[in-house]
Amino acid sequence: MKKNEFGYWEHHWKAYIRDKCICVYCGFDGTIFENWRQLSIDHIIPEKEDGEDSLNNIAVACRRCNDNKGDFDPRGKAGKLNLSLTRENLLAKAKESTEQKNEKELPAFKAMMKEIKEQ
Ligand SMILES: [Zn+2]
Repeated sequence: MKKNEFGYWEHHWKAYIRDKCICVYCGFDGTIFENWRQLSIDHIIPEKEDGEDSLNNIAVACRRCNDNKGDFDPRGKAGKLNLSLTRENLLAKAKESTEQKNEKELPAFKAMMKEIKEQ
């Protein structure tokens, strides 16, 4: 593995190009310079769970989604030995989990905005 002239691992750089700097989980647009640094590299199967740091196992995610996805393993307990799960299958499961966690933040966000308005 090599880093490019900008200090990016080459496979990470390729993921940003492949995923067009858009969060694969929520569609956050990192093509705007001010947003761009909010992007990160997610390991679809977490590295903790022996997910590879390879182009096939990484995806561009905004920091929020990456944080909310956390150590979620899209293979599930039963699927860990199922090697036929495709990248698309795994991404879909990871997306579902991340969307649910993102939605759980909404009440706190609404409460916070309400307090700001009321002060
Ligand atoms: Zn996102």
